[in-house]
Amino acid sequence: MPELPEVEVTRLSFADRIAGARIVSAHLGKPLRWPLGCDPQQLAGRIVQGVRRRGKYLLLDLDPGLLLLHLGMSGSVSFAAQLPERGVHDHFDLVTSRGILRLNDPRRFGAVVFADSESSPEAVKLLGRLGVEPLGDDFDAQALHAALRRRQAPIKQVLLAGDVVVGVGNIYASEALFLSGIRPTTPASRISLPRARLLHAAVRDVLARAVAKGGSTLRDFSNAHGESGYFQLEAMVYDRAGEPCRACATPVRRIVQGQRATYYCPRCQR
Ligand SMILES: [Zn+2]
Repeated sequence: MPELPEVEVTRLSFADRIAGARIVSAHLGKPLRWPLGCDPQQLAGRIVQGVRRRGKYLLLDLDPGLLLLHLGMSGSVSFAAQLPERGVHDHFDLVTSRGILRLNDPRRFGAVVFADSESSPEAVKLLGRLGVEPLGDDFDAQALHAALRRRQAPIKQVLLAGDVVVGVGNIYASEALFLSGIRPTTPASRISLPRARLLHAAVRDVLARAVAKGGSTLRDFSNAHGESGYFQLEAMVYDRAGEPCRACATPVRRIVQGQRATYYCPRCQR
């Protein structure tokens, strides 16, 4: 599943090239998770001003309007001057004066949604409950600590829930908790300010490194240059059950929390 770093890498791969482009036409394939919400012909003539990211949504600022694009479980985006004929898994093409933006999504959990603006109901429904951006200036250790104090659930699940901080998926939550020495089952409310500071730094570090490496998690992830994004991070604990901890050689343990696999070192993480 594309996580925040893959979405950010996708954004970086085409944002500069599409900025300023005029939309010529838009074409839909099979239904995606949510409907576009307008006639695709209504997009023609609008200008793509730029591409932002909010959580795992790409936001194409149009003049006028907004397109929200989500990669779902298996989506990937291409942007090129020319692309092959649309294939069976290509479900959205945005033809612009600078090239074609295409969403390929075999499982069709992704979506492209039009909204008049970020404050219109269609956009608020999708973006309204997202927590702060982990790589943004609003994410700070004290605010994280204060938010965690109010939550009784295990820290791993609070990180995954996305309403405290957005976009920390399963791999990155496991890795950040290892780097900060926090056991994933610890109630969020019991994490001290010093440990929240470590966790804050670890979340930023693991996500920033994944972005720098080109996104790490989806084996068939490719960015909008069509390059493979298979840059698997050297995981400290994720997917390493029974293997020696890279810090202390204790076997890494696997447990299940909220139906998601969690990996941790029972010695390094208390
Ligand atoms: Zn260890």
